[in-house]
Amino acid sequence: MTSAAASPRQAKVELRNVSLRYFGREGETEALGGISFSVTEGEFVSIIGQSGCGKSTLLSLIAGILAPTSGTILLDGKPVRGPDRRVGYMLQQDYLFEWRTILENTVLGAQIQGVAAGAARERAAMLLTRYGLARFMDHLPRQLSGGMRQRVALARTLCTDPDVVLLDEPFSALDSQTRIAIADEIADILRREGKTAILVTHDIAEAIGMADRVIVLSRRPGQVKSMHQVAFPSAGPARPSPMQARTASEFNGYFNRLWQELEVHVEG
Ligand code: ADP
Ligand code: MG
Repeated sequence: MTSAAASPRQAKVELRNVSLRYFGREGETEALGGISFSVTEGEFVSIIGQSGCGKSTLLSLIAGILAPTSGTILLDGKPVRGPDRRVGYMLQQDYLFEWRTILENTVLGAQIQGVAAGAARERAAMLLTRYGLARFMDHLPRQLSGGMRQRVALARTLCTDPDVVLLDEPFSALDSQTRIAIADEIADILRREGKTAILVTHDIAEAIGMADRVIVLSRRPGQVKSMHQVAFPSAGPARPSPMQARTASEFNGYFNRLWQELEVHVEG
């Protein structure tokens, strides 16, 4: 094997045998039990697994918000030691501050990172314009629809210009039509901007539609159960959008395989 540093295809993000145990008043919880995988630059990876299997924990580890109990997480080949500018995090709820305007919400992350106010506002305004929100910059979050709020959350995440974008079930608060439309938009934006993306979801169709590769986690303690490369040659040479992917002939095959892998049971 060649050394990672010398390889031109060094992973953007790499997890080596990562475990995490929470220690709480009710005792220990082994959330993740020895996870290894890597993500190359510009790749879009979806991670699926049942509720409670450690998906959010995994993203918090990659974001440097949590430290692993054992194992190593590498970003550009170097161990992650805390939050890093190269990584942006988009959460389940949009966490917009209701008393701040859309523009003020969008610059928030950049401000925290110490980007000069003028430069941050300029970039935020550029992104909001690009995402069709120019007219709403001076509005308050409550004046926007759920889909628009998620676009603001994306603009805020991208305002710091991260290389890697982590998305934790970012569409789960949206109704199903908005959800599909916004997934299309966000996948398109992330691909066009060449971001490396890691999407966590429990929605199989969303995982397949957005990703180049789907990683399935087992039940808690989460471990990598399988990985699936996703491609839609029937849809032509370009990667179809998540919406188009749903009608491609390969889609059902992936769906059925992942459904079985997830071992979905209705409890009770
Ligand atoms: P997922 O995102 O897949 O639903 P999480 O990563 O949120 O799963 O949680 C994995 C497991 O760890 C769950 O059993 C959860 O209850 C537990 N857990 C999550 N956060 C904490 C915490 N701060 N303290 C103790 N246990 C936690
Ligand atoms: Mg979660």
